[in-house]
Amino acid sequence: KIPPLYVITPTYRRPEQIPELIRMSHTLMLVENVHWLVIEDAKVPTKEVTKFLNRTGLRFQHLTAPMPAKYKQKKGVKPRGVSNRNRGLKWIRANATEGVFYFADDDNTYDLDLFTQIRRTKKVSMFPVGLCTKFGLSSPVVKDGKFSGFYDGWVAGRRFPVDMAGFAVSVKFLLQRPNATMPYRAGFEEDGFLRSLAPFEPREIELLGDNCTRILAWHTQTKKNEPSAALDMKLYRSTNLV
Ligand code: UDP
Ligand code: MN
Repeated sequence: KIPPLYVITPTYRRPEQIPELIRMSHTLMLVENVHWLVIEDAKVPTKEVTKFLNRTGLRFQHLTAPMPAKYKQKKGVKPRGVSNRNRGLKWIRANATEGVFYFADDDNTYDLDLFTQIRRTKKVSMFPVGLCTKFGLSSPVVKDGKFSGFYDGWVAGRRFPVDMAGFAVSVKFLLQRPNATMPYRAGFEEDGFLRSLAPFEPREIELLGDNCTRILAWHTQTKKNEPSAALDMKLYRSTNLV
């Protein structure tokens, strides 16, 4: 049997949550032996999410991991999805022995080829992500079939200037690195996590997407709905519509 593919998805309560998860579940329904780790930034699981997951027929784990209060109260850019992803890593350490994992935000768009290609990952693989930063694309640069640098609109001193959707990691490789973790540092989550996988050098990156000539994931963003609709899902809840 084909080794499992763990998809770690941070999510949080908002009116767009269920539609985002519906779209994502439809993608994952087309993927073989996938195990979906849905981790809510919440103290308790959201009833609607529980109901929804149960009717997808997918193999899933529904976990919660609230953003620590000190970050939640902070003004400005917050480290979104970090507690969730670290909870996912903790679950993998406790339950997985083989296969590959991938951080997949609930609002992105995934090419089905992504899921076949990342299964090959021995250590860490990378590939182009579309609709990223001001350059419109984030990707490793490949010269003569070899890694030669990064293309990203926001480098900011990062050793690995990549998007969250732009890499996958082998479970065995993670298990050999008990201290690997994602930092609560907005903008530096990917770099911090990839650095924590040391020893690991950029030249070891496995280049996917036909030597990074094809976009395998798209950093799409759903526009925020009107404030009236954003009443914390009270309408949907009270009417039992979801
Ligand atoms: N997220 C979360 N808590 C929050 C905000 C976001 O768990 O307070 C999740 C969200 O569902 C998504 C990921 O973290 O899966 C990244 O958030 P977002 O899509 O808002 O970030 P962006 O695409 O703007 O970088
Ligand atoms: Mn997003």
